[in-house]
Amino acid sequence: MIDNIIDALEIFHGDDEEQFADDLVYLAHIRKHDLFYFENRAARKLLDMDRCPYCGARYEHREYYELHDELEGKPREKMIATYCPNGCDA
Ligand SMILES: [Zn+2]
Repeated sequence: MIDNIIDALEIFHGDDEEQFADDLVYLAHIRKHDLFYFENRAARKLLDMDRCPYCGARYEHREYYELHDELEGKPREKMIATYCPNGCDA
């Protein structure tokens, strides 16, 4: 995985070796709080992609209705449950 990230950075920078070198220096000296940010950013991106931040599986959605019998007419409210098919959020 680390090799893929470095290969992607090299492709991203194209012929700009100075920028690629700057990124490599950053990675060579990455600190704990940077890793924490990296971890959060990756998890948020997976959520934006509607995927589980733990295993990467695409989330599944199930519709159901919640009965409000405390209200007049006992209306039903449509709800959507989002869950990981691998049970990470169980
Ligand atoms: Zn999962």
